[in-house]
Amino acid sequence: MNDIMNLFSLNGKNAVVTGANTGLGQGICVALAAAGAHVFGVARRSCDETAAKIAAEGGQFTEVRADLSDFAAIDSILEQVHAHADRIDILVNNAGIIKRCDAIDVTPENWDAVDFLNEKMVFFLSQAVAKQWVADKKGGKIINIASMLSFQGGIRVPAYTSSKSAVMGMTKALANEWAKYGINVNAIAPGYMATNNTNQLRQDEDRSEEILARIPAGRWGTPADVGGAAIFLASDAAAYVNGYTLAVDGGWLAR
Ligand code: NAD
Repeated sequence: MNDIMNLFSLNGKNAVVTGANTGLGQGICVALAAAGAHVFGVARRSCDETAAKIAAEGGQFTEVRADLSDFAAIDSILEQVHAHADRIDILVNNAGIIKRCDAIDVTPENWDAVDFLNEKMVFFLSQAVAKQWVADKKGGKIINIASMLSFQGGIRVPAYTSSKSAVMGMTKALANEWAKYGINVNAIAPGYMATNNTNQLRQDEDRSEEILARIPAGRWGTPADVGGAAIFLASDAAAYVNGYTLAVDGGWLAR
């Protein structure tokens, strides 16, 4: 590898990725492992599929079981990772849920479930990892998964839009405070990607056609599409990138 490409290498880095069993989280795990990281995949259920994909490419993957709807998950994740690794170098806050419902019908329970996972846990897991990085003075990389609805209002997903708008704001707020510790906090805003998150949308023929017609790239995104952006933001190549939300959207926002 020539010198410039070394900047993108994640050899010797330990990366924690939440929501690792499927979808975009799985795509990010596979990409970071291919770039050399030892990936710790956090999920409520088995990550066998992710583990198999990474093993097939000769990468390193360790499953970490945790349910992020409970604060106890934070200590449990750190404990499980530190049983195998001295330090975390990269944290990807990918786990997230969406609940489709007219704004007029949203309940406090619906709101709290989305808000807790998509916003509050992103903050407090980042804080827990950043405490270690501030203490050991070696810095690190945080990548939050935002959304088109960090920029736009969306339809029938008000709690989700609020949480993802918060993720983009939080990314800037944390970057401002932590850049001086060598901690880069950035986000990726995926466009319309073919995962469980968009199953309902893609099954609704009218909405699906409407969305597709507006994507300049002319197709839904895939988990592999976010891999390159994740490697970049996790790597030394992004050393001077702070507080930015990078859209990976086939041109949706450019339209
Ligand atoms: P997905 O539903 O396939 O994945 C969601 C992931 O979150 C899964 O791994 C799931 O197990 C995990 N998760 C949910 N609740 C959890 C909990 N309590 N504890 C631990 N893990 C939990 O959908 P996806 O599209 O892969 O979503 C990944 C991220 O990307 C989410 O934050 C989502 O909001 C965001 N996103 C998706 C799209 C899209 O079009 N698919 C667009 C923008 C942003």
